[in-house]
Amino acid sequence: MTDYVKRKELLLELNSSISDCSLCPLSSSRTNTVPGEGSIETPVVFVGEGPGADEDASGRPFVGKAGELFTKILDSVRLSRQDVFITNIVKCRPPKNRVPSAEEQRACSPYLLSQLAIIKPKLIVALGATALSYFVERDGLQITKVRGQLFDWIGGIKVFVMFHPSYLLRNASRAPGSPKSLTWEDIQKVRKMYDQLLAGEEIDI
Ligand code: URA
Repeated sequence: MTDYVKRKELLLELNSSISDCSLCPLSSSRTNTVPGEGSIETPVVFVGEGPGADEDASGRPFVGKAGELFTKILDSVRLSRQDVFITNIVKCRPPKNRVPSAEEQRACSPYLLSQLAIIKPKLIVALGATALSYFVERDGLQITKVRGQLFDWIGGIKVFVMFHPSYLLRNASRAPGSPKSLTWEDIQKVRKMYDQLLAGEEIDI
C-alpha cells in the first residue's frame, strides 16, 4: 500500500470516529459532523472555529456565507479549496454559533491533532481568535495585533494568523488598513509561503 493510500485510509477512519463521537455535548445537537476536506498532500492547512448552520446541514466546512467569502479569498490568489486542507477546531456545530467552550475544544482536540499528524502540513493558517488561542497559548494576544504574523508550533510547523471570514463579513470596508485590505495582504503571503513550501524552500515572508 502506498503512503498516500495509507494516509487516505487513516483519514477516512478518523472521519468515521468523528461521526460516531459523543465526547462532548455538541454531539447531541448536531445534524452532521464536519471533519474537514481538501488535499492530504498539501503543505497548508486552514483551521477555523467550528461549523455553522450550513456546515452542520451539509457536513462540509466553510460552505455558508463566511465560507463563500473564504473561497473567494483563496481564489484571489489562485488557490482552490482542493489545493489546501480546510477544517475547524471543533467538528460539531455549537448551538447558535457560540464560541466552543474550552472543554469542547479539549474534547475535540485529538481529532484535529490526528488530522495534522496524518497530513503533516508545514504551515497552519489560523482563521480568527479561537484558532489563534488554540495554537498560540499566550495571554493577551489580540487578533487585530497579530494577524499577518507567523508563530512557531509543535514539530517545526509554523502558524500564520488571519482574520476569520465572518469578521470580514461584519467589516465590509475595503479602505487601506481595514480588515479586508489587511486580509488581501495576508492571503498573498500565504500564497508566497505555499509556493515556497511546494518548491521545498524554507518559509520566508
Ligand atoms: N466558520 C468556521 O469557523 N468554520 C466553518 O466551517 C464555517 C464557518
